[in-house]
Amino acid sequence: MKYSMIGTWKMAFDGIIIGENILKNDGNVKTAIEESISHIEDNPSFNSVGFGSLPNIEGELELDAAFMDGNDLSFGAICSVKNIKNPIKVAHLLSERKRNCYLSSHGAEKFARLNKFEFKNMLNDIAIDRWNKEIKNNFDPDNLEAYDGHDTVCMIGLDSNKNMAVGVSTSGLFMKQSGRVGDSPVIGSGFYCDSLIGGAAATGVGEDIMKGCLSISIVNRMKMGEDVQTACENSIKDHIERFKNTNYTPGTMSVIALDKNGNFGAATNREEFPFVVASENLKTKILVCKNSNLKMEIFEPDEEWLKNYDYD
Ligand code: ASP
Repeated sequence: MKYSMIGTWKMAFDGIIIGENILKNDGNVKTAIEESISHIEDNPSFNSVGFGSLPNIEGELELDAAFMDGNDLSFGAICSVKNIKNPIKVAHLLSERKRNCYLSSHGAEKFARLNKFEFKNMLNDIAIDRWNKEIKNNFDPDNLEAYDGHDTVCMIGLDSNKNMAVGVSTSGLFMKQSGRVGDSPVIGSGFYCDSLIGGAAATGVGEDIMKGCLSISIVNRMKMGEDVQTACENSIKDHIERFKNTNYTPGTMSVIALDKNGNFGAATNREEFPFVVASENLKTKILVCKNSNLKMEIFEPDEEWLKNYDYD
């Protein structure tokens, strides 16, 4: 396949259209990922990424993002940053560094300021209202779930020169503690990409995704010969089964992956997990991964399904 791209949740759709246009014209995958994710970050109608996303327990927005270049395995990541308009752009620039490429909070904001990235108040009225309602609810800080299951936007791409890259961006779990960091900016857990094998990324309850380092687990399975869909399914299945004889029930987790030839895979422990794909052979489309006892079926949603889907 000449090019290919995959992204988490239905919200990835508009972003992937932008990325697909870049890849179709022989553009670079790194530009495609950055532009696609920036578009999602800028759109306040997506609840859990960038502008107007999910506040922490103190009513502040603390954002996480990461970027990885599959050619030389370089990566950049930022966590717990406030008021950076496009965290993915900062993570991308950091991926060009050999050291100091994963920065947190004030250090990351300082780097962004020095490099003239745009800052803006990322809280909007919708996010403030959402927080005002939730703070009055009797929520359990030790049992936070992904917000209606929909949090991180993750995108993986392959371009016509066989370069691969992955990017992720999120506000993390709604009502998280200040300073809490999930899997998303953590290499191997929230994302991983090797152009010689493929890439993977995860969304869901970060604490539980990190326990299985799900993204590197999928890439390693592909390296050992599993096809991309089998690698996604086995990673989720093995990880969930690990908790069987414990007293712990893991939260929701969903993964996407793309192999070096542009084939895609997805898996989840939710009932359904929508994602978006585009490639030379496939117009940008939403697909749904349906889980029945950790066996996955992928289907194309009909209009009725799309009408009833109202979460991103
Ligand atoms: N993985 C993110 C986190 O734990 C949230 C999500 O993707 O649902 O911060």
